[in-house]
Amino acid sequence: MIRLFSELPNPQRRALDLVREVSAEKQCRPYLVGGPVRDLLLHRGVIDVDVTLEDGASTLARALAKRIDGRVRSFPQFLTYKVTAPQLPEIDITTARKERYRAPGALPTVTAGRLKDDLLRRDFSINAIALDVMSGEVHDPTGGESDLRNRAVRVLHEESFVDDPTRIFRAIRLAKRLGFTLDPHTGELMRAAILGGALATVSKERIWRELFLAMEEEDAAAVLSALADSGATEVLFGRRETPRSRLDVVQRQIANDPELDREVMYTAALLYGNASPLDLEGSGFSQKRARNVVQIANELPRFGDALAEATSDRQRFRIFKHASPEMLSVVAATLPEETPHVARFHEYLEFELGLRGNDLEVPGGPHIAKALERTREAVFTGEIDPAQARIFAREMAIKYLDRESK
Ligand code: ATP
Ligand code: MG
Repeated sequence: MIRLFSELPNPQRRALDLVREVSAEKQCRPYLVGGPVRDLLLHRGVIDVDVTLEDGASTLARALAKRIDGRVRSFPQFLTYKVTAPQLPEIDITTARKERYRAPGALPTVTAGRLKDDLLRRDFSINAIALDVMSGEVHDPTGGESDLRNRAVRVLHEESFVDDPTRIFRAIRLAKRLGFTLDPHTGELMRAAILGGALATVSKERIWRELFLAMEEEDAAAVLSALADSGATEVLFGRRETPRSRLDVVQRQIANDPELDREVMYTAALLYGNASPLDLEGSGFSQKRARNVVQIANELPRFGDALAEATSDRQRFRIFKHASPEMLSVVAATLPEETPHVARFHEYLEFELGLRGNDLEVPGGPHIAKALERTREAVFTGEIDPAQARIFAREMAIKYLDRESK
């Protein structure tokens, strides 16, 4: 089993070697648990270094930090230490814990527990495998290895989705990421939990957090589409149709331009045709981003009509100037591929006039910037000859100044 470690990138292998060395000195017994064991067994390359101990988490964390000249941060409510040092991945060291759900959807009460307790409290069998870092022995009390072979996501007990409905989002996200399916009974439990209103017991903030995690996935469109189809997003947005193609368009746009605000764009795609700021409650979107979501979701069709009616670059630029980069990107994606309108607008944004306010010999004020902008547009669109730029700008500045003083 330890053999699998040799597939890891160097810094991660070193982190695990250090955990092993320091544990030998301090007589600790660390287990790699959860996501990293799953990913190791699936040969997925990079893993998070998450280790759990029944005893001695703080001893190991401090000794390790000392050894690598790193830093320890403690998160007592999660019985967790995070050790960081340059050149090494962050190492999470946690005390094995037992959890009890006092009420559906509420956060669990946590107490220290045995390794087995810690595995049994987890979401899915494939996330409930531990690997003894010292001996390489595997602990798999819930049949996770068999589910890995069968490529199935399976919850550990009947109440799992009711206890913690965010697992609905986790199950779909993980299944899509790994190309797994939901175990049939798990699928039934999920449907029953959704229909039974389990998600209404969780705060909107927590649901949005899960939704944003879905948007981070490599195939976010597939995850979001599956979430929408399952009914899991109804608790936020009510019942709606979300065609997969609309999410795919966004995914392609983001792949082309990583600067775009993916959360804004995916949310707009989910709310397409009918968005209100109320739909965004709990999202934490700033006012500006929320406006952007609503604009894209609601105004795209009208935007397209206005654009179709525009007959000159100048008219089209008027329309584009009011749009966010995200809106522009979606517009570009909905236009026929050979239509150069948006590209032309981007060229225009970059275009430099080579004329400054001082060149106009007009008293200063806001009319100068306006006149220069108008001139830049006129030269770019061919309305006037570049040689006339200065005279034109001066005329415009005087005209605007005149208007201002009226
Ligand atoms: P990722 O690659 O996205 O980090 P992961 O499985 O490591 O996947 P984390 O969110 O990092 O997911 O959680 C670490 C582990 O904690 C999981 O593997 C799982 O065992 C456990 N876990 C996380 N969230 C829950 C939950 N809501 N209920 C039960 N166990 C959970
Ligand atoms: Mg993880």
